[in-house]
Amino acid sequence: MELRIIGTRLSAERMGNHASGFQNMSGRLLSRIWGSGWLQGLVLICVWLLVWAFGILAEYTYHASIWFPPAGLTFAALLVIGWRAVPFIFVAAIISTFWSVELYSIESRWPKTLLAGIKFGFAHILVYAAGASVLRLIARRGQDRLPVIIIGFLIVSAVFSLLATAMVLLMLVSGGLMEFASIADSWFAFWVGDMVALIVLAPLFASMLFKLYARPVFRIVTLELVSQKNSLRQFVFKLFFTAAFVTLLMLITQQIDTLESAFLIFFLIIPQMWLTFSENTFRTVASLAILSFLMVLLVYILGLGDYAFVYQFAIAMVATTSYFGVAIPLLALDNERLRKQVMLDGLTGAASRDFLVQQVELEIQRSVRGDRAMCLLVIDIDHFKQINDRFGHGQGDEALIQLTTAIKRELRGTDVLARFGGDEFVTLLPDTDLERAQAIAQRVQVQVRALRIQPDYIMTTSIGIAEFRPDDLFSTLFTRADQALYEAKAAGRDRVRSAVAV
Ligand code: GH3
Ligand code: MG
Repeated sequence: MELRIIGTRLSAERMGNHASGFQNMSGRLLSRIWGSGWLQGLVLICVWLLVWAFGILAEYTYHASIWFPPAGLTFAALLVIGWRAVPFIFVAAIISTFWSVELYSIESRWPKTLLAGIKFGFAHILVYAAGASVLRLIARRGQDRLPVIIIGFLIVSAVFSLLATAMVLLMLVSGGLMEFASIADSWFAFWVGDMVALIVLAPLFASMLFKLYARPVFRIVTLELVSQKNSLRQFVFKLFFTAAFVTLLMLITQQIDTLESAFLIFFLIIPQMWLTFSENTFRTVASLAILSFLMVLLVYILGLGDYAFVYQFAIAMVATTSYFGVAIPLLALDNERLRKQVMLDGLTGAASRDFLVQQVELEIQRSVRGDRAMCLLVIDIDHFKQINDRFGHGQGDEALIQLTTAIKRELRGTDVLARFGGDEFVTLLPDTDLERAQAIAQRVQVQVRALRIQPDYIMTTSIGIAEFRPDDLFSTLFTRADQALYEAKAAGRDRVRSAVAV
């Protein structure tokens, strides 16, 4: 499935070019191996083991890590690459099992370790593949809307990391690599570790895979705003500044050494939101991953393992807030589009009926206060049905569009032209008396007559005018103008009539 979000920037073609650019660069042999998927798979295994080793580094007690980065990579790979990634993750999971047997000096003969590795790989992959499928489903049902995908992603992260924890712990116990009794002590830390890594790393890994992998099964194309033009140097500066800030906060905690002081890390939200709102989506997810890596590293270096939970939750909270920060410009864009839908007529681009009524009421208030003149024109095409019947509905639409342009040519910026329905248009002329309104109406008629919808077809209009009276509402003003239009039609069309002043 290909996901598309409004305002596409990263097109399928560009991705294709990216891949072929790489192929030119790397020579034919490498490109053939890369294209066959084996090299990609090998890279996936190596990166998986690398981030796994980093997770071990972040262990603050036996078997419990601040995070478990492979969860983020597995989820992203299954989401973007799909089932093709499964064998490679499986191999990586088995290697990591042998590695941890070595690391923890566990008594285990190789067939037993192999079986434990297979069980671990199976549980890990099965759960995250299910999670990735659920997220794809949510994205499709949510009509590719980013806020829905973000909420879906956060829920999937929480639920499926819990499932993965349950499955993997059971597999470890059944494989003899863990005591059953220690489940009670470690499940919560396992879960939070998986969840945090998923929330903070999966978006980065997925974004990288979108770019590198030529045939993604899932793709999010986000809208990139002006911030995209920011130079890399600016981004690196912001990142360094924020990294220095994180380091400072954690050094303070190391000195004061109280639980309360560990909560200082939540101030990270300020520079992180600065990054989110001023940089593009990819840089936002990259900064989150880099800063969380730094935090994990500092917990290890500064010996802040006692406060690991605080840092885990800080990472999760800051990342979550940041993702919603990414969605806000898109929501604003949606609102703008809805606003336009309400304000404008879709076919002609003239104002909508609702907008007209609103503007007339506003002008009525101003005119009453300032004792100013104002007129309303109702313009209707003569025998419009004939245009549809003779030349087709498409030509009828075209006539409406051209009519709009022709009328606008005679209007000022403060006038409002609205399509009232069908072939009937209404024009509001503030600060205009009846005499001037009649002149404008006549000029409009000339402009419309000059249009050539079809060779030899002259389109004409009838126009009714009403001048504003101090006790008028929109409805009374409109009714008088409409009545005048009716008289113009009755008198033979192609003419202007004004409501008689009483
Ligand atoms: P009159 O001179 O009395 O105004 O005659 P008329 O044919 O213009 O008036 P009538 O109200 O009988 O017909 C208006 C036609 O406009 C009927 C409808 O099919 C057509 N129409 C309404 N909306 C659209 C539209 O969006 N596009 C097109 N092509 N036709 C439309
Ligand atoms: Mg008509």
